[in-house]
Amino acid sequence: MELIRIPRIMHDTSRGHILHGRSIGFVPTMGALHEGHLSLIKRSKDENDITVVSIFVNPLQFGPSEDFQQYPRDTDGDVAKLRKAEADVLFMPDASQVYPSGFMTHIEVGEISEKLCGAFRPGHFRGVVTIVAKLFNIVKPTRAYFGQKDFQQAAVIRKMVKDLDVPVDVVVSPTIREHDGLAMSSRNLYLNEEERKAACVIYRCLIQTSELLKSGIINKEKLKGFMKEKLSAEPLVREIQYASMYDPETLDEVENAGKEVLLAVSVKIGGTRLIDNMLVKA
Ligand code: AMP
Repeated sequence: MELIRIPRIMHDTSRGHILHGRSIGFVPTMGALHEGHLSLIKRSKDENDITVVSIFVNPLQFGPSEDFQQYPRDTDGDVAKLRKAEADVLFMPDASQVYPSGFMTHIEVGEISEKLCGAFRPGHFRGVVTIVAKLFNIVKPTRAYFGQKDFQQAAVIRKMVKDLDVPVDVVVSPTIREHDGLAMSSRNLYLNEEERKAACVIYRCLIQTSELLKSGIINKEKLKGFMKEKLSAEPLVREIQYASMYDPETLDEVENAGKEVLLAVSVKIGGTRLIDNMLVKA
């Protein structure tokens, strides 16, 4: 595996592959890699000639009171996992190379960035979309791989790609879960033993709500009430930021479930913010 730290070198490496007619699959990450990330890498390897993985903890997408400093970092562990997964290139730039002094351009996707997580993390998606657009320009992927776990993130990136005619196929891959259903996340490392046990309430809530939906209960207020009740029954759930059913395209709450709806949840367990979602056919 080739390790590249300088954007210009990544740029030239990708150009070389493109000139040879090779397709490039790209998996952008913030590191502390787990099976969720590895599933995206595997898919990229299956579908492309070359797989580039980036690790960059992007300061632009963290709010001032968020966990940028504490965000888990494990470069040695990540490199070992990427070697084993047979990634071709690891692109791991320094912040000073990505955001040199004088940097002042940002990309903002409207409305859908302001809902769900966006309502609780002002500026977050602006930071995400800006770094993803930069990484797309540097890596020049044929396809880029994102996890369904961050459903809104994938939707916002899809919108940016469509609106700006970015020549990249955005591929969204299923959420990989722990044995008890908890969606894998680098932030799960923040949870102590009790919080970790409590966190599986999120998946249980999604599953039980999806069963209700499939049994014919399609009214938002009923389902939302049920979700709130389930989540608040867990004493370690400190805050429910959102828990409801949404239109998978617009991310607006829907009054009555139509063909397909998105059930999405964001809660704080202790100090840790966790999100999860499920697409359900009513
Ligand atoms: P992150 O390192 O958290 O920024 O995530 C990098 C990519 O991995 C994003 O596209 C995430 O949606 C994806 N991802 C994170 N957790 C999971 C998971 N449990 N299953 C599948 N993809 C995931």
